[in-house]
Amino acid sequence: MIAQDEQIRVTLPDGSVRQYPKGSTGLDIATQISEGLARNVLAAKVNGKVQDATLPIQEDANVQLLTWNDAEGKATFWHSSAHLLAEALEALYPGVKFGIGPAVETGFYYDVDLNGQAFSQEDFKKVEDKMLELARQKQPYVRKPMSKADAVAYFDQKGDPYKLDLLEGLDDGTITFYTQGDFTDLCRGPHIPNTGFIKAAKIMNVAGAYWRGNEKNKQLTRIYAVTYPKQKELDDYLYLLEEAKKRDHRKLGKELELFAFSERVGQGLPLWLPKGTMLRERLENFLRRAQVRAGYSPVVTPHIGSKQLYVTSGHWEKYGEDSFQPIKTPDPNEEFLLKPMNCPHHCEIYKTKPRSYRDLPLRLAEFGTVYRYEQSGELHGLTRVRGFTQDDAHIFCRPDQVKDEFMKVIDLVLYVFRSLGFEDYSAQVSLRDPENKTKYIGSDDLWEKAESAIVEAAAEKGLRTVTELGEAAFYGPKLDFMVRDALGRKWQLGTIQVDYNLPNRFELEYIGADNQKHRPVMIHRAPFGSLERFIAILIENTGGNFPLWLSPDQIAILPISEKYEDYANDLFFTLQENDIRGFVDLRDEKIGRKIRDAEVNKVPYMLVVGEKEAAEGKVSVRRKGQGDLGSMSIDEFVRTFQAEVKI
Ligand SMILES: [Zn+2]
Ligand SMILES: [Zn+2]
Repeated sequence: MIAQDEQIRVTLPDGSVRQYPKGSTGLDIATQISEGLARNVLAAKVNGKVQDATLPIQEDANVQLLTWNDAEGKATFWHSSAHLLAEALEALYPGVKFGIGPAVETGFYYDVDLNGQAFSQEDFKKVEDKMLELARQKQPYVRKPMSKADAVAYFDQKGDPYKLDLLEGLDDGTITFYTQGDFTDLCRGPHIPNTGFIKAAKIMNVAGAYWRGNEKNKQLTRIYAVTYPKQKELDDYLYLLEEAKKRDHRKLGKELELFAFSERVGQGLPLWLPKGTMLRERLENFLRRAQVRAGYSPVVTPHIGSKQLYVTSGHWEKYGEDSFQPIKTPDPNEEFLLKPMNCPHHCEIYKTKPRSYRDLPLRLAEFGTVYRYEQSGELHGLTRVRGFTQDDAHIFCRPDQVKDEFMKVIDLVLYVFRSLGFEDYSAQVSLRDPENKTKYIGSDDLWEKAESAIVEAAAEKGLRTVTELGEAAFYGPKLDFMVRDALGRKWQLGTIQVDYNLPNRFELEYIGADNQKHRPVMIHRAPFGSLERFIAILIENTGGNFPLWLSPDQIAILPISEKYEDYANDLFFTLQENDIRGFVDLRDEKIGRKIRDAEVNKVPYMLVVGEKEAAEGKVSVRRKGQGDLGSMSIDEFVRTFQAEVKI
């Protein structure tokens, strides 16, 4: 019989508590649960800290067994793969020295000093093969605590200056070595149980990287790679990368003539071309209509505001230094700022007249263009720009209306997502850090009410949410939406944010039923986030094949020869009267070429007209992605089109 004190109590994530002999490992626990789990467990999270699945657990603990499906499991897998890469490199490039080898978002890298030996694309395969050969040996990652003196002696003897440099910063008693096969590394871990988990490897890329990120130091070779537990997963990942390249909104934006950038206009300032503008206006009109139905009042405010406005709002103090600098006027007492956000302007609109509790909620909506300084290295297509238009609105309401307003905004956001084909979405609720309530503005009571209002609203709307404690802004809790695109990538989109700060700073008030003055709650919300970013995501999600109602050119009329130009032009005007937009291809080209070009430009409907169509008053219809739909009367085509274009 085992004495009571030799048992530990392990609490699993489902809340169940089990007893295990003291010194059991994560792997032991997994084995007891199921063989399958034991085969897949990569690491164990013990009281919040990730450790080797093979490390003994000595006391009562919360234990989560990590697999490939957990972000921390993946990170452990990839970091362990960096050791495998190093082992392969050491076998192939004698004398190679090692810097650091962390996991990154997808995969891992190792910074290495190849002693002047060349390493390029042609060498990738050789290293990948070596990694897999070593992986097949299922070498365990063996952990060994080392004294600092022994650790220094080891790397001194091996002649690795980078590891010696790292050791200088470590305290005696905290140092561990890990060995798999013939390769030993200085590392605090954790690692997967053995190299056999790694079934597929791909070197992605090499780049230069200064040791410790300091350009005074030697430049090392940074080798980026990715590994997977199954070859198929690697294949899928590489396919997605290729597909993502094809769908890159910067590439498609140029090809489809949606937007452009000009150095002369300035970095990060998109120029919307006619087709992109058409797309953008349709999106705006779509949301405008939905917002009017949802009780919003449109407003328009200027692109600049007096510096004092942003001193009042607090933006000047917080962002002034790192933003566009004030605009001067001939009057030395006057200074203006490019508008970095619309909220202060909307607060001033609120203040234009006295408000009563019966006037609330007041919902002010504006497609407001704002300007934020981003460093040029941070700019990226339409997703990081210096001037962009928010589909912004501010809701001023009573504290008891917060939940209802959240429900309504969630409805609106989901309507937008569904209308645009984003079926896979989730949300994050960001709440206060319960351990540190003092850093937040607004009373405890208000926060508690608002937080439970958000949580309840999200639950009643059936949203899939994760809750993050401590992620709220100092001025209020929020709900952020994430969508997954056609390639499985996650994008952060719209946000709904409670604000207790600005109503204070602007001294907003309403007269309550009690005839007393009260402070309204302000809610910021933007379903798209910004039009620029949203359109970028939309381009990448659809690959440029926009839904019919959004397509810049919805139809292309393709006359077989110039004899049918008059008929084509008449047809064009008839369709235009029915709100169907596009163009007539009057080029002197063969019909096959015209069809091909319309396909490349992702025009949804191609209407071919020749002798028969002109004589019978018909059109020959081709739908992109569906092919030939046959011949139709013009009325019939208009009905077909209108049935599809409805959202
Ligand atoms: Zn390691
Ligand atoms: Zn705002």
